[in-house]
Amino acid sequence: MLVPMKEILVEAKKGKYGVGAFNVYNLETIDVMFSVFDETNSPGILLAGGPDIAHVAAIVKSYTEKYRHIPVALILDHGRDYESAVRAVRAGFSAVMFDGSALPYEENVRITKEVTRLAHTVGISAEAELGHVGQGATDAKEDRKKFFTRPEEAARFVEETGVDALAVAIGTAHGLYKTGSPELDLELLQKLVDAVDIPLVLHGGSDTPLEQIQAAVKIGIQKINIGTDVRMAYLKGLKEAIAENPDAIDPRVFLKKAKAYMKAEAIKKIDAFGSRDRI
Ligand SMILES: [Zn+2]
Repeated sequence: MLVPMKEILVEAKKGKYGVGAFNVYNLETIDVMFSVFDETNSPGILLAGGPDIAHVAAIVKSYTEKYRHIPVALILDHGRDYESAVRAVRAGFSAVMFDGSALPYEENVRITKEVTRLAHTVGISAEAELGHVGQGATDAKEDRKKFFTRPEEAARFVEETGVDALAVAIGTAHGLYKTGSPELDLELLQKLVDAVDIPLVLHGGSDTPLEQIQAAVKIGIQKINIGTDVRMAYLKGLKEAIAENPDAIDPRVFLKKAKAYMKAEAIKKIDAFGSRDRI
């Protein structure tokens, strides 16, 4: 069943576990994720963005009708403006993220507030980002610290915007890390947990040691975004299957292995984050 993301995250906060949020792109990746949620008996969050969000939403909707017993949220990832949020609402998403983390504070507050109001008007959830989670491939580890989320500012931001979940910058980055494993600032995370009541989100969860994420979940992260790791598993399976079956002409021969690899990777994350058997 498609549910507002807040419902899943509030339960996770109460139960002190993390829920993986996985990027999906097409029928196959959506099919994989629903079989993962079903098999692990875990609530699920799916991330989508880009020009084909209406297509993704339509496929997700048909799966949520089939798997009525699984609470699943579909969130627009890194929406750039108010208009993107409107498009996601129209497509049928159950949450929208507005990423104003590169904007001046007041501007981030202003648009987050509008997006949150829109989301709440139609009964869905809103996520925002304060501080800035950059790119692992281009940002040096030391530079990342300049953009860490400040606890007092986070408290004020949540109060001013009424947002349902907050993405915080505590040391992760999107994609793969060029300068070795990240080191999460868990002391800062504790201060953020003390400063705000709403669920907290960790972007850039791929290529991050699972023990570090588990430590963050223990302190108070409820949503962990995973894009690169499941995408790479899918592509690895696809490449291997093409190499192994050079003469095959049925695409399903290749997709089988791609889906199996992605499934194994997603299950590994779910078990590490602790959302198995939480339905
Ligand atoms: Zn992100």
